[in-house]
Amino acid sequence: MTQYATVDPTTGEVVREFDTMTDEQARDALERAHAAFATWRRAPGKDRTAVIQRVADLHRTHADELANLMTLEMGKPVAQARAEVELAASIYEYYATQGPDLMADEELDIAGAGRAVVRTAPIGALLGVMPWNFPYYQVARFVAPNLLLGNTILLKHAGSCPQQALRLEELIGEAGTPHGVYQNIFASNEQVASLIASDELQGVSLTGSERAGRIIGGLAGQHLKKCVLELGGSDPFIVLPGADLETAVPAAVAGRFGNAGQACTSSKRIIVEQTLWTDFVDQFVAQASQWVGGDPTDESTRLGPMASVAARDDLAAQVEDAVSKGATVHVGAMVPDGSGAYYPATVISDVVPGMRAYHEELFGPVAVLYRVPSVEAAIELANDTPFGLGGAVFTRDEGAAQHVVDRLDVGMVGVNTTIKSAPDMPFGGVKASGIGRELGRFGLDEFANKKLVRLV
Ligand code: NDP
Repeated sequence: MTQYATVDPTTGEVVREFDTMTDEQARDALERAHAAFATWRRAPGKDRTAVIQRVADLHRTHADELANLMTLEMGKPVAQARAEVELAASIYEYYATQGPDLMADEELDIAGAGRAVVRTAPIGALLGVMPWNFPYYQVARFVAPNLLLGNTILLKHAGSCPQQALRLEELIGEAGTPHGVYQNIFASNEQVASLIASDELQGVSLTGSERAGRIIGGLAGQHLKKCVLELGGSDPFIVLPGADLETAVPAAVAGRFGNAGQACTSSKRIIVEQTLWTDFVDQFVAQASQWVGGDPTDESTRLGPMASVAARDDLAAQVEDAVSKGATVHVGAMVPDGSGAYYPATVISDVVPGMRAYHEELFGPVAVLYRVPSVEAAIELANDTPFGLGGAVFTRDEGAAQHVVDRLDVGMVGVNTTIKSAPDMPFGGVKASGIGRELGRFGLDEFANKKLVRLV
C-alpha cells in the first residue's frame, strides 16, 4: 500500500491509493507557494477576509459530503463528523469577521518621544503537517489565521485521509485563493525534511504524535524555522468533594469516548477523590456501557471503529499489558470478532507505575480511573505525566478548584467543564504536549512578523 491511501476502518479494505509526489513536484510546489506570497501578502485585507468567509461557506454547503468522506476514511460517526465540519467553518468565519481587528496596528504606550506601533505582517510560505483524527478542524486552525495574515500554505495531510485532503484543496481554491496560495502535497517524510531545510519556507506547524514532534521540531530548530507543535496529551479529569456527579459523570464519559477516544484533549485519566469513588465508578461504568460500537454511517452511532486496525491493536496491547500486571477491568477490554478496527468502550482501574497504561497516551476508547485520598494526591498524580495539554476539575468548592487550576502543569484547564475547542480561545500545551498556541489572536501571532514601527 502507498503512503497515501483510503482504507475503510470498518472493514480494513483498501478503497483507493494515491501516488506520493516526486521530488521535482515538491520543489515546484514550494516555488509556487513562495511566488504566490509576493502577491497574496499585498492583497487588500478585505479580499483575504472575503476568501476566508467563502471557505467557511463552502464547508457548510458541502457539510454532508465532507462528513461522509471523513466517516469513510477514519471511521468517525457521521453526526460527530458533521459537527466537526461546522466547527471548522466557524474557525474560518471567526478569522474572516475578526480579521480587521486582529490585523490592526497595536499602539504602544511608550516613554520616549513620538509613537510606536506593532504591525502584524506575514512571514512567507509555511508547511502544515496534519493528522487524521480531526481532518478538517486541525487544518482550519492552521490555515484560517495564516490566510488572513497573507502567508501561503503547503499542506501535508495524514496518509490516511487523502480524499479529504484533495477535497479541501479544491474548496479552498474555489473560494478564490490565487494559484499557489494553498496547495495539498502528498509528500514523503524525506520531502518534508527538505522543504523545511529550504530557504523559501519560513515555518512549519505539526499536529500529531510526540515522535513526529521531535523530528519536525528538530528539523525546524536545525534550519532556524519558526515551528508550532501540537502533540499528544494525557489529560486529567479530577473529581473532588462538592462535585455534582450529574454533571461530572456525563462530561467524563463524553470527554473520553467521543471520537472513539482519539483526541489529544480526551479525558484520559479520571482521578476521583475517595469519598466519591463508589458512586462515581458505578455511574461512569453504567454510562460508558451505553457507548456501543456501531456502523459510523448510522446517524445514531456514538462509537465507531478506531481509525486503523494497527492503532486498535496497539491500544489492545496497552490494555492487555495493564491487565496482565493487575489492573481491574470494569467493562470492555475484549477485541470483538469480525473485521474492522473496532474496540469497545473500556473502563479500567488499579493502573500503577510500571504499566504502559500509566505512562503512555491511550489514543482510543479506554478510560483509566484512579482513586486518590486527597486533593494534593490528585494534583500530584495529574502532573505525573510527560504531557501537559489540558485538564478539568469538577467541584463546587471554588477555593479547591482554583487551587487545582494554579497547580496543574497544563496549557488549558476547565472548571466544571472539559476543554472544548472554540475559534476564539487559545489551544495548546506545555511539556511534551508541544510548543505554541493555535486559535484566537494567539494562533494568529505564531506565524506573524510582529513588526515594530517607530514614528518620531
Ligand atoms: P503521527 O504523528 O505519525 O502523524 C501525524 C502527521 O505527521 C501525519 O501527517 C504524518 O504523516 C506526519 N508525520 C509523521 N512522521 C513524520 C515525519 N517523520 N516526517 C514528516 N511527517 C511525518 O501520528 P499517527 O497517525 O501515527 O498517530 C500515532 C499517535 O500520535 C496516536 O496514537 C496519538 O497518540 C498521537 N496523535 C496525536 C494527535 C493529536 O491530536 N495531538 C493526532 C494524531 C496522533 P503520515 O500519516 O503520512 O505518516
